[in-house]
Amino acid sequence: MSDTLMNTYGRLPVAFEKGEGARLWDSEGKEYLDALSGIAVCGLGHAHPAVTQALCEQAGKLVHTSNLYGIPNQQALADRLTSLSGMDRVFFSNSGAEANEAAIKLARLYGHNKGITNPTIIVTNGSFHGRTMATLTATGNRKVQAGFEPLVQGFARVDYNDLDGIRNVASNNHNVVAVMVEPVTGEGGIAIPDEDYLTGIREICDEHGWLMMLDEIQTGMGRTGEMFAFQHSNVIPDVMTLAKGLGNGVPIGACVARGDAAEVLQPGKHGSTFGGNPLVCAVALAVVNTLEQDKLVARAAELGQRMLDGFSVRLADVDAVNEFRGQGLMLGIELDRPCGELVGTALEQGLLINVTADSVVRLLPPLILSDQQADTIVEKVSDLIREFVTA
Ligand SMILES: *Cc1c(COP(=O)(O)O)cnc(C)c1O
Repeated sequence: MSDTLMNTYGRLPVAFEKGEGARLWDSEGKEYLDALSGIAVCGLGHAHPAVTQALCEQAGKLVHTSNLYGIPNQQALADRLTSLSGMDRVFFSNSGAEANEAAIKLARLYGHNKGITNPTIIVTNGSFHGRTMATLTATGNRKVQAGFEPLVQGFARVDYNDLDGIRNVASNNHNVVAVMVEPVTGEGGIAIPDEDYLTGIREICDEHGWLMMLDEIQTGMGRTGEMFAFQHSNVIPDVMTLAKGLGNGVPIGACVARGDAAEVLQPGKHGSTFGGNPLVCAVALAVVNTLEQDKLVARAAELGQRMLDGFSVRLADVDAVNEFRGQGLMLGIELDRPCGELVGTALEQGLLINVTADSVVRLLPPLILSDQQADTIVEKVSDLIREFVTA
């Protein structure tokens, strides 16, 4: 391997050349089944015709102008995202971390506008919000932060799924302006909170005039079996961030806001050169249209249930499995031991999976999976786990 790339990733010994749906082929022509979707990005799978068409048509017309001008595709995408979410306004970025940066800046400015000069945002342990300075500070994982001190000020941390923790901060800290959480943790190990968690956060935020901010970068765009994960509950956030599945692989993020929060960022307060350009917005529009036309959100719910049921049958007698859990096609199988090496073993057998939080096998397959492909993933992963824990 060449050493001209910074050594930021421990890469697996494979490079893919071509994809179609949930399948990939490497440079030797070996075929793989993709149960990761480039970490929840390619929800429509690889080389989806609607994505390819949108890319090619828009590339032949206009790729970039500037946010100094009107961008009809950006406006159309904002219209779709707001009507799907029931929210009001969108700012487009190029990544998840940047969408969260916009949310963090929005919350701080919201605080300053109310006379709070040291605004604090409540975040949780076990969260992941990105790798920029503010988002790595918000992230609840020391490994992500270590070596990058001094961190950014203005965050207070509580446990995930702990409403009392949030209430405690409320009674001690009068600088709080927002709570920012993931509806289901992604990098943190597919933790699914209690049913009343989001409703509880909504109540606390309403009581104190705080913004409820949901990081839906991994959970959004149908992944959990609703277009946005908050739609499993009957609350609506003030701010929601999106990225991964929104562009099916083209770099796009979004910070969506509602009510007062939607009016906070005014000219001169935030911006992006590339954000929301005609090309990425054409692709994201094709993604949204395809999710709707092909009813892929309901399909994600159905496939997720099918896979969870499959695992509960196939792994019922394996004591080393602590728990399998999931919402839609965001699935985690927690073992009683670190299992990172499963990723390499699966790869050898032509299957792409991921392990996060040391001991959680994480599956994020594309929403276009066939029943048969879903069953194959369940069989292969179950066999791999069984072999691994009995070896
Ligand atoms: C991936 C992810 C991010 C960061 O997105 P990038 O595009 O890598 O900056 C933030 N939050 C969550 C929940 C994520 O899964």
